[in-house]
Order: sequence, then structure tokens, then C-alpha cells
Amino acid sequence: MDKTKPINPIAYQPGLKKIRKRRWFLWAVICAYLPAMMIALDSPDYRNRATVVFCVWIALLIIAVVFACIVRCPRCGECFHTHGPTFLPLRRCLHCALHINADKRGAEAISPQAKPPKKK
Ligand SMILES: [Zn+2]
Repeated sequence: MDKTKPINPIAYQPGLKKIRKRRWFLWAVICAYLPAMMIALDSPDYRNRATVVFCVWIALLIIAVVFACIVRCPRCGECFHTHGPTFLPLRRCLHCALHINADKRGAEAISPQAKPPKKK
């Protein structure tokens, strides 16, 4: 790929949409824990319900983390949130620094190697 030519950020849109969906699923699972556990603990059969809620939640969390780990960056093709064994759900690709909203922002979708050096 020729890195000297700026690429239209719209080209990354399908890949970035997929990453955003998986991030939303991950955060939704994490945030659902407290309300689900409060509802379970409010019932008369709270011990069994809390156990079920915890087991379902941990299974969903594992699925959400795995899907977030394996999602690929549309620009560099590497795992967007994973660098070696480290999982960091940041808003930029850990390899090429493509922003999660590059297709909406436009300018930052250009590869850092393609940018001219900044003058101080
Ligand atoms: Zn990347």
C-alpha cells in the first residue's frame, strides 16, 4: 500500500463500525452487572438467582472480551485493541493509531507516516 497518498476515511467505515459495535457490547455487558445483580438480590430466592446472574454475566463478559480482542483494524489489519498479550480497549488502534471515529472526523484517518513533519 502506498502510504504517501491520503486515503479516504470513508473506506474504513465498515471496519470501524464493526469495532464500535463490539466496544458497545463490551461496555454494555460490564455496565449490566450491577443492575442485574440488584434485581437478583431483591428476589426471595436470591442465592440461586445471584448465582445464575453471575454465571451468565461472566460468560457474556468472556464472549465480549474475545470479540473485542480479535477485531481487526481496517487500516493496518492488526488487532485493534490487542498488542501482544495486552488487551487495551482504547479509542485508537494500538498499532497504527487510527481513531475509532476516523470515518466521522476525516483528517486523522491519514496514516502518521503519510503526514509531513511538523514545524516547530
Ligand atoms: Zn491499525
